[in-house]
Amino acid sequence: MSPIQVTQADAIIAEHIAPRESDSVALDDAVGMVLRQQVFAERDQPPFHRVTMDGIALAFDGTRTQEEFMVQSVQHAGDPKHTLKDPQHCIEIMTGAQLPDGCDCVIPIEVYQKKEGKIRLNSDYEPRLMGNIHPKGSDRKKDEALLQPGIQINAPEMAILASAGLPQVNVSKDLSIAILSTGTELVEVDAPIENYQIRRSNDRALATSLQKAGFRRITRHHLLDDPVQLEEKISSLLDSNDFLIVSGGVSKGVKDFVPGILANLGVVKHFHRVAQRPGKPLWFGTTTNNKTVFGLPGNPVSSLVCLVRYVIPACRRSLGLGAAPETWVTLMDSVQFEPSLAWFLPVTLTGDEQGFRAKPRITNTSGDFVSLAGTHGFVELEATTNHFPAGHRARFFGW
Ligand code: AMP
Ligand code: MG
Repeated sequence: MSPIQVTQADAIIAEHIAPRESDSVALDDAVGMVLRQQVFAERDQPPFHRVTMDGIALAFDGTRTQEEFMVQSVQHAGDPKHTLKDPQHCIEIMTGAQLPDGCDCVIPIEVYQKKEGKIRLNSDYEPRLMGNIHPKGSDRKKDEALLQPGIQINAPEMAILASAGLPQVNVSKDLSIAILSTGTELVEVDAPIENYQIRRSNDRALATSLQKAGFRRITRHHLLDDPVQLEEKISSLLDSNDFLIVSGGVSKGVKDFVPGILANLGVVKHFHRVAQRPGKPLWFGTTTNNKTVFGLPGNPVSSLVCLVRYVIPACRRSLGLGAAPETWVTLMDSVQFEPSLAWFLPVTLTGDEQGFRAKPRITNTSGDFVSLAGTHGFVELEATTNHFPAGHRARFFGW
């Protein structure tokens, strides 16, 4: 089967990934999660005529005929509202207090003088009816919808949830993601090492990128290229996780057991191989009970590029989140790429008022992950063109 195009791969993934179940969590645990319920205003917003300046509250009509006001009382934020008994008087008031009864104007402290219990307005200040008052219900009315399902809970949404009096919210259940690295040649970071072995690094790179994207329930595992152990482990990881990301073992070598094992375990393959470099052997499938499996080629640049380009968007989709906003950048150097494949080219970015510019960092094969040091991500260059001049606009993906 010949490789599919990048856009086809995107479409196939989108078709096979649906939002997962939801869960009720405490507000403190909801940071960055995806809301799965509507949220309504508990009360009018603001819930009362809210004073917006420290100063005095008084009757606007009184200000037409006089410039001096006796202070009747002082009302702080959080005090029950006072009542102005005489329109010739005023009430000293603080930001956040409820407007006292009998008042329809607030005058800020900066525009008057206070002497012997009396307030004298500056002669050039013109009071306004309802000036410096945030009227009750002017933002939203009680029971109006404030938030819709599918929105990510960032700082503004967190404030709105708190304002709606919701200590618990329904969110997409955090994805449980297992990373399984394969390869008999690979050893742990702190193990003794022979000269025919290499240190395992992909699983850490993949986990780092997933963590940066906001995913928290990630476990890392490793196995030798042993089909019996692999089948057992893949089966148990599929039972206990939503996403399984296998690194290595998906190409055409005699020890590349992963596609065969996934088929044995009933994982339905939706594609294997995409017309791209790096990452051509990419494998994608799902199970009937809604588990997602990506088989990433083991070369370190390939596996990281495929994770960022396909797996993280799939994880977002699975939470019910839309695609992340696209970032487009301008190439700083011209580059040439002959094969009819999409090219994911690592770059460093600089930004100014003209936008982002991307400096290509050519790696020495897809095994050369040390050349990625300091890069911010990669640009996607289309398969249909070979020459990309300086100034070419391309879509950027961050690590
Ligand atoms: P594979 O896709 O299993 O054929 O692996 C391709 C290349 O990537 C081989 O040179 C592997 O040694 C290397 N590789 C695979 N997995 C890892 C890993 N977890 N860390 C570092 N290198 C890896
Ligand atoms: Mg391998």
